[in-house]
Parts: sequence; structure tokens; C-alpha cells
Amino acid sequence: MKIIVSEIPEEGIELDLTEDIRDDVIRIASPVHASLKIEKRASEVLVTGEISGEVKLQCSRCLKNFSVNIKSPVEVVYHPADAVGRDENYELQSDELDMGFYRNDTLDTDELLKEQLLLNVPMKPLCSPECKGICPKCGTDLNAAQCNCGFSEIDPRLKVLEQLLKRKE
Ligand SMILES: [Zn+2]
Ligand SMILES: [Zn+2]
Repeated sequence: MKIIVSEIPEEGIELDLTEDIRDDVIRIASPVHASLKIEKRASEVLVTGEISGEVKLQCSRCLKNFSVNIKSPVEVVYHPADAVGRDENYELQSDELDMGFYRNDTLDTDELLKEQLLLNVPMKPLCSPECKGICPKCGTDLNAAQCNCGFSEIDPRLKVLEQLLKRKE
């Protein structure tokens, strides 16, 4: 959905969105829900509310596909990209909020929802905090079976520590 910034009324706009959104980076299971309040403050646009959606991820340890429900508050200030580029003295002063840019007097809520979902996707997704991963040698899914390769799931940094401790003994 596209919002014309100059047409946002004084009292703001309240939106309840249910959108099908596609993205190349993350696989979003549709639909995505959001309830947003969009307000204009001088040339900036303040967007607050909440977003929820389901994202399909691949576990970074065992490579299994799984999905997570993301539910997150939204609080973004959009600045006019043209003015920011033109005016060196334009001040970006929204420290505590997410920041975005709009172009040509238009704010695209699909982009907004996408960005907000992306922000909340874990960098190293895990199907479960206890996921044991895959044996690097034989490829066995260690959640389902054990193998005899002797790879423990100790963090490599801990392993160094373990060796140091052994040496001391
Ligand atoms: Zn896993
Ligand atoms: Zn193995």
C-alpha cells in the first residue's frame, strides 16, 4: 500500500493491514498483519504500532526448515530522502527510533513491513535453543541420532579452554 505523505491528515492515519508480502531475502509466510498509526511531523513521518507475521527460516546448525512467529512493536521515523540528500544541514535526530527514508512524497507500507520483519529475524536462526546440529564429518542429524565420530557440540572457544585446562592437570 502506498501512502502519499502530503495527504496525511493532521490527525494521522490508522491502518489495519493484512498483506501478502514477498521478499528475496527472507521467506515470509503470508499474510503479514500490522496495525499502524502514521503521523506527519513537519517533513518527517512517524510510524508506530505493531507487526506480526510468520517467517520461514533454516536452522543454522541442522539446516532444517522451520518457521517462527514474529511479533514486534514498530516505531520508525521516515525522513524525506530528497531533502536529506540536498541539505547538508538536515539533521537526523531520532536516536532511539528506527530510521527510514521516503521518496517522491510516497511511503510504501509493504517496504515498511518487510524491513520490520527483517529487523526481527535472528542472524543465526536455531530450530530450538538445544539443537545439536549436524555432525561435520558424517552428516548425521544429531537431534535424531548419534554417530561415532566423536564431535561434541562444544563451542570452539570453549574447546580451547578445555584444552588449556587439560594441559594444567
Ligand atoms: Zn536445528
Ligand atoms: Zn558423525
